Order: sequence, then structure tokens, then C-alpha cells
Amino acid sequence: MPRNASRSIIATCRYPQESSCERESLQPWWCFFSPTGALAEIGVDPAKIEHVAFSHTHGDHVGNGNLFTGATLYMQQTEYDIAFRADAVSKWNFEVTRYDTLRGNKTVKLNGDHDVFGDGAVVIIATPGHTPGHQSLWGRLPKTGPVILSGDMVHLQDNWTHRRVPSFNFDMAQSLKSMEKVAGLMQKTGAKLWINHDQAQSDAMPKAPQFIP
Ligand SMILES: [Zn+2]
Repeated sequence: MPRNASRSIIATCRYPQESSCERESLQPWWCFFSPTGALAEIGVDPAKIEHVAFSHTHGDHVGNGNLFTGATLYMQQTEYDIAFRADAVSKWNFEVTRYDTLRGNKTVKLNGDHDVFGDGAVVIIATPGHTPGHQSLWGRLPKTGPVILSGDMVHLQDNWTHRRVPSFNFDMAQSLKSMEKVAGLMQKTGAKLWINHDQAQSDAMPKAPQFIP
């Protein structure tokens, strides 16, 4: 969650807190992190969050979506078009009940990259492939410098190193193109890539609230 004194933006929200350990049996290490718990630790009320830009609408990234009642929602048009459709569950396996109230929020539908605050501090990067409207997030952090939050543009460091695309992705060619786009951005800006599902990388990182990146 990139944040400064006056601006906060949520980029991923995993599973709902109450079902986190049960649902994350494949990745039990995620049990120790609950987004809502982390927000509480730094004194942030989810209803006061002003900007939400989920990487995509799979259940493990939008689990607490309904809590962000006051936020502006940023979604790629292609993701929005399937996320709130009647067949979002049956065709796309999206867990609509986790984020359904957001259909009433102010929404900015995107068709590509978007500089959220207009100053280059936080930029949504369109990275389709895992889902039709997948997006990653570029942010300039005070101590760490530029980082890119992968979302599920890539799941694991090994997949990134070898440019592997999971068979369950929506579009393989788009996925590879998005990886190359991010690699180019990293080269151009010196940004680090934080890979959302990579446990080894996560374990090596100091965590909030003790550490503000
Ligand atoms: Zn996903």
C-alpha cells in the first residue's frame, strides 16, 4: 500500500481476514498477513482509503474489497467489463461477493497506464495476460526508491527469471509482452520488482509497521 501523509492507495487485498488461513492452504505463509490487520496497525480505517487499484479480480486479491466504501476504484475497462457481469463467477471464477459493493463506488475505467496523482509518484501499469485487464503498480517510495508491485503479472521469481507463463493465464502472448514491458520499465527507472506470491522474497523483506519502505 503506497502511502504518504495525504494519499493512500490499495493495490492488493488478498483473502478476507476471517477466512485467510483456511483459504490459503496452498500458501500458508500468507496466513500471517492480513490486509485489514495491517491497516489497523498503522491506524488506517479502510473506509477512509481514497484510491483502490486492485491488480485484478481473482479472489486472493480482492478479498476485502467491500470494506473500501469511500474509495475511487481504478480498473482497466477490460477487467471491469467481466468483473461485474452476471457470468463473472461461472465463466471467470471471480468471487464477486468479495467486492460487489464497489460497483457503486466512483470508478475510473482505464485503457492503459495511468498516473494516479499526476506527479509520477504512483502509476498504474497495464499488464494484461493473467486476466484480460490485469494491472501492476509502479510507486516511488521514500526509502526504497522506485518499486513495481507485480500483482500476478508474474507469480514467482523463477518464473520471472525464465519468463515462464502459467497455463492458467488468460493469454500467453499478452503475458509475455507484459513481462517485457515491466522489464523495460525496471531497466529505465531502476525499479525493484516485488513479486506478490514469492515467499522467499517476502521473507527477506522487513515489514510494516516496524519498517516504512
Ligand atoms: Zn490471479
